[in-house]
Amino acid sequence: MLNLKLLLPTPIESISIDGRSFYLKRDDFIHPDFSGNKARKLHYFLAHDFPNISKIISYGSAQSNAMYSLSVLAHIRGWEFEYFVDHIADYLKENPHGNYANAIKNGIKIIENGEGGREKGEGDAGILFVEEGGRQAEASYGLEIMAKEIIDWQIANNIKKLNIFLPSGTGTTALFLQKHLSLLHPSPFTLHPKVFTTPCVGDSQYLKKQFFMLESDDKFHPTILEPQKKWHFSKLYSEHYKIWLKLRQQTGIEFDMLYDPIGWHVLLANIDDLDGEIMYIHQGGVLGNESMLPRYQRKYKDIG
Ligand SMILES: *Cc1c(COP(=O)(O)O)cnc(C)c1O
Repeated sequence: MLNLKLLLPTPIESISIDGRSFYLKRDDFIHPDFSGNKARKLHYFLAHDFPNISKIISYGSAQSNAMYSLSVLAHIRGWEFEYFVDHIADYLKENPHGNYANAIKNGIKIIENGEGGREKGEGDAGILFVEEGGRQAEASYGLEIMAKEIIDWQIANNIKKLNIFLPSGTGTTALFLQKHLSLLHPSPFTLHPKVFTTPCVGDSQYLKKQFFMLESDDKFHPTILEPQKKWHFSKLYSEHYKIWLKLRQQTGIEFDMLYDPIGWHVLLANIDDLDGEIMYIHQGGVLGNESMLPRYQRKYKDIG
């Protein structure tokens, strides 16, 4: 077994934003180096033994949370880690920071001009191929554990109707969470929790497609709430910075700066349509703020 202690089940706190109360599941507490939904999606690779694997190959952006989490997995397993990116900005190469710098410390080998990675070929038996953002069937394992944590908590607290909200990238976390919540048995006094999400990377159609790639039966799909505006992923918006600061001020909690501002905008805009208690999932990713916060501070000097 691996010498990596995960904090599970993660705590669930009560928070209040603009006078409304929410439950917050602190998946950002799972492990300092292995946090949030990337820890859930990669849990399978921590909990099993892989005597024949010696290398991970994956692909995506040069600042992604998934890349960093995979570098931690490779590091503690003693595996090589080859990561294909389309392009690395000159500024980042000259001033390594955030997930990129930390992945380099863990021994990542980054290959540029390699968008989409490479296909598995003959002689690749010792290589673990991981899809961008951890979008793959093995993610189901960790999200079943998370679903059990939530159901146990719901029953212990006698919460009849629970709505769960989390913002999506690939949609893998929201999908498997909804699926396992639907398959697990609630108590006679509680209903199956319902998962709501919103797309942060593409649009709702893209997200729906992602769901179908992982699960053909759409009765297991989360409910998609439409964002009120077309925000481009990882671009800076003053309204994102403002809501991120407001959340920090009202709760004392640091949220991620890529997904959570969109998540909270969408949740707060739809809150009156949700009947029952609401739980927001803190999916970690705070390490990535190391690169986002200085950009926001430079761009919006008058805010904050
Ligand atoms: C990766 C990530 C997401 C998106 O997760 P998906 O499973 O790809 O939908 C959301 N929030 C944070 C903080 C993340 O790091």
